Amino acid sequence: MAGKMLSIGECMVELMQAEGGMLRKGYAGDSFNTAYYARLFLPADWTVDYFTAVGTDIVSQELLTFIESTGVGTSHIRKIEGRMPGLYMIHLKDGERSFSYWRSASAAKLLADDPDRLRAAIEAVNVVFFSGITLAILSPLAAETLLAELRRAKAGGRNVVFDPNIRPRLWDDAARMRATIEAGARSATMVMPSYDDEATHFGDASVEATIERYRSLGAENVVVKDGANRVALSFAGDERVHVPASQVSAVVDTTSAGDSFNGSFLARLASGDSPAAAAAFAARVAAAVIGHHGALIGRDKLPAGSAQ
Ligand code: ADP
Repeated sequence: MAGKMLSIGECMVELMQAEGGMLRKGYAGDSFNTAYYARLFLPADWTVDYFTAVGTDIVSQELLTFIESTGVGTSHIRKIEGRMPGLYMIHLKDGERSFSYWRSASAAKLLADDPDRLRAAIEAVNVVFFSGITLAILSPLAAETLLAELRRAKAGGRNVVFDPNIRPRLWDDAARMRATIEAGARSATMVMPSYDDEATHFGDASVEATIERYRSLGAENVVVKDGANRVALSFAGDERVHVPASQVSAVVDTTSAGDSFNGSFLARLASGDSPAAAAAFAARVAAAVIGHHGALIGRDKLPAGSAQ
């Protein structure tokens, strides 16, 4: 059955070290990565749109051209005069990656400042995705605007999917971080956390504890990712299910493991797979993604998916 998905957040310009002191330019961000993988594996009669804000400069135009080249729609993206996309640089030293960010004045921080546009974009779709990073980049007031629209979407019967993606360095205050993540979960019908983050920041003693906590906040469905261990699924009305991670012979780059899992899982669920079948497929996609460098891996290197 045809449908529409919207992902909300920030896609940044990525600069990565290349040979001879050169820098290679790319584009990435958790919510965009999720949209990219959803687009790859959704049937052709689904649309996937990205919601963010960019500027009117050359870099913003290049970012929009890139997003369109992946098949993700850009018609809801706001253009704000005088703002630019955020940027980050990946440093590689002895095989370890570290990151520098220039995003404190990025256009995306203003993505919720036009609530009518936000509402129109959300009302046009069946599935909305957002993350803890989406919430972290917004001012407290803007985050509340976004959360209010998402609660409205949930009350209106839409699927609202939230990955807490907890990144303490994006928050100035740990208590506000936890409270806002909890508010995100309350606005969602499905929460897709990574267990290690939840254990660290909420003190969960087990994957089961993470499931219970998010269910008690009002998320009907919870999918807990746990790296090389199994994925735990708790869907309303169903028995809890565990799906093993796929084997990876050599982990090359774990960037986007969780995002590729999210996007391919949502695509298969929307296509009619059971949660367990969708998770088994998503685990295969995530395993392939971490076997390659970079966040956005081409379809030829991934398991065969939908009919697209
Ligand atoms: P995040 O990258 O968001 O922290 P996780 O580390 O939990 O997310 O990984 C997301 C998914 O990627 C896991 O559920 C699993 O399917 C896959 N994955 C991650 N690490 C491995 C690994 N070492 N071996 C196999 N699969 C993995």
